[in-house]
Amino acid sequence: MASAYQKMTDAELDAALADLERQADELRALNLKLDMARGKPSPEQTALSKPMLDLLTSESDLSDQGVDADNYGAPDGLPSARALAAELLGVDAANVSVMGSSSLNLMYECVLHGYIHGIAGEKPWCQQGEVKFLCPAPGYDRHFTVTESFGIQNVPVPMREDGPDMDVVREYVEKDATVKGIWCVPKYANPTGVTYSDEVVRAFAALKPAAPDFRIFWDNAYAVHTFEGEGDELMNIFDALAEAGAENRVYEFASTAKVTFPSSGMAWVTASPADMAELRGAFAAMRVSPEKISQLAHVRFLKDAAGVAEHMKKHAALVAPRFALVEKKLTDGLADLDVATWTHPKGGYFVSFEGPEGSAKAIVALAKELGVTLTPAGAPWPYGRDPRDTNIRIAPTYPSLDELGQALDVFVVAVKLVSARLAKA
Ligand code: PLP
Repeated sequence: MASAYQKMTDAELDAALADLERQADELRALNLKLDMARGKPSPEQTALSKPMLDLLTSESDLSDQGVDADNYGAPDGLPSARALAAELLGVDAANVSVMGSSSLNLMYECVLHGYIHGIAGEKPWCQQGEVKFLCPAPGYDRHFTVTESFGIQNVPVPMREDGPDMDVVREYVEKDATVKGIWCVPKYANPTGVTYSDEVVRAFAALKPAAPDFRIFWDNAYAVHTFEGEGDELMNIFDALAEAGAENRVYEFASTAKVTFPSSGMAWVTASPADMAELRGAFAAMRVSPEKISQLAHVRFLKDAAGVAEHMKKHAALVAPRFALVEKKLTDGLADLDVATWTHPKGGYFVSFEGPEGSAKAIVALAKELGVTLTPAGAPWPYGRDPRDTNIRIAPTYPSLDELGQALDVFVVAVKLVSARLAKA
């Protein structure tokens, strides 16, 4: 569809451009320093978990169901931590390892396992020549960085409104044995906010991979991060696998990064019994046992899935107004101009914005000039290459509402000015 700027006469467009250049000059003169780049909880959000710090003292009983948190042991994590992690994902605690504070780190270790030792008795990926991972895009840039760092070829796959384009995924996975994995954020995806439909989850479970060492990296980072109403329901991938009669196909990950404290929480991985046995072998070579004091604090603070749900409502009360502000500012500023679309997630941390073709880099650069830092354009694509240069990730959670409002005003002017300049070109 033609934008309002493309429909203008030359004189109207010149006048609009002059007005927008003037608005940009006024904003530039304010010397703003605002940041909408970071998918981080705000200080008010992390403060919600500070009472957890008071739960363990030198007087505390540090045992959990007979396991001492203050010593070696329990290589899969504390029993209560495994039970909580399992309840949150709807899986059997026997198949869960809770380890460390970063799920991304666990994903890296699983890729490392495939690369160095090989999966399910196959040759290590490092000895197989060309190896590929599918990357639904736009997606989470740090996923792509993990596989890129091993020299694995990242292949973009289009994202649709209900998940990755499964025709493309099927074609690659079932015909190309060099495809060893796919990165998925199945709920409130980073950055689109999309939750995969049951049909997509079932299509994943029904895949017949050409490579026996193919695994789906199911990063359920935002499993409990609803901020609007009842939120989205994600079908349990292990239920879908059982329905399809498939197993040894999925590594699922999650963490409390955006439940309690990012980088100071607990992270976990779950998979089939056979896959977990293999992964445990790999982890056993890496560490004696995981850090468990933080696990103990977490289970005493959060208790169970109901406790997590209560806690997440407090996050929602802080996050929802920020997303509502994004929606309002973008609608008020841009809806009539037919220059852009954006997502309307019910959970997660991001809004994904689509501007005119060839605009994203210019919008991000202009916003920077006007004092607002955004995620670099292209970052949500493998190798940073957004083929149409249209996508911008908006991360509204960290700034205060006032700062966010200002940052969005700048963003709207940047979008309009770049769109008008493109119409003139
Ligand atoms: N996975 C996704 C999809 C994310 O967006 C993030 C952080 O933004 C992470 C993982 C990082 O999680 P962790 O801190 O547990 O490594």
